[in-house]
Amino acid sequence: MKTIKSVGEFGLIEQIRKKIKSGSGVVQGIGDDAAVIHPSKNLELVTTDSIVEGIDFLAKKTSPEKIGRKLLAINLSDIAAMAGNPRYALLSLGVYPNLPLSWVNRFLNGLLKLARPFKVDLIGGDVSRSSQFWASLTLLGEATESGYVSRSGAKPGDSIYVTGDLGGSILGKHLNFMPRVREAQEILKKFHPTSMIDISDGFFQDLSHILEESKVGANVYASQIPISSAARTLSGKDKHSPLEHAFHDGEDFELLFTSKIKIPTAVLGTKITWVGEIVQSKMGLNVLESLKNPKKVKISRKGYAHF
Ligand code: ADP
Ligand code: MG
Repeated sequence: MKTIKSVGEFGLIEQIRKKIKSGSGVVQGIGDDAAVIHPSKNLELVTTDSIVEGIDFLAKKTSPEKIGRKLLAINLSDIAAMAGNPRYALLSLGVYPNLPLSWVNRFLNGLLKLARPFKVDLIGGDVSRSSQFWASLTLLGEATESGYVSRSGAKPGDSIYVTGDLGGSILGKHLNFMPRVREAQEILKKFHPTSMIDISDGFFQDLSHILEESKVGANVYASQIPISSAARTLSGKDKHSPLEHAFHDGEDFELLFTSKIKIPTAVLGTKITWVGEIVQSKMGLNVLESLKNPKKVKISRKGYAHF
């Protein structure tokens, strides 16, 4: 069996290079001291995310293709949250000598298969030695002509919306979700969002990030939350309600955004749900039953945090 040790660092880089066809805008891809790309006339976006074996995934439980796919997908979701266009990726790998080369190849195949439809070019990276596998991806993107969306522009009176359904992603969606790149750009064009974030830490926590950055509060209506069937399934197996799963489970990678515009549910081909409204900062974040019956709802359990 071929391992990292048998091909060496440069053998591995050669394997990666063979898989790549550089697309438009890449002047110099893998193979020089630095990549060379044409700057676009729009604002540039840069994001990075990493995954570590034993923390973010278990190599025995998850296929390498899915792990590679997810590393790119979580970065795509961050570019989506700014309503940008993903363009170029840099990939750093931490590998150990007896790691099978086939495992790394499958990891790359999963990553590159998702790169294709999003027109992302892998233009460089690094390889280093580590006792457990880890990978870090830096994704460069471009804002469109319409600009970008930050977390900090929500104003009292704005409506709060989410795409898709929430909760229970651990049952599968966290590995196979489609980053909302197209949807985010349509939202930017059509609905002039005042703030946006992708739901990675859980709806409640990510809404809190918008509220903090925008210095506002929110009323959220429990009866409006689009609860996924996975959240209901999980609820049957533990002590948390489907609503609590929808509120706190991480890695939905849906978009959470605010807008002054009244948006119908089915305008994008992807479900958009109104879940509440932005209020003044001093009101805080309140979970209420419904607009008609605005009594407080108790929600337990916090979202995911590394430390
Ligand atoms: P240097 O020693 O100058 O950092 P390297 O030997 O690390 O160069 O890398 C050689 C080339 O291979 C560079 O273009 C680098 O970007 C690319 N490269 C290295 N590791 C990876 C990787 N994991 N994925 C993609 N490209 C890589
Ligand atoms: Mg290097």
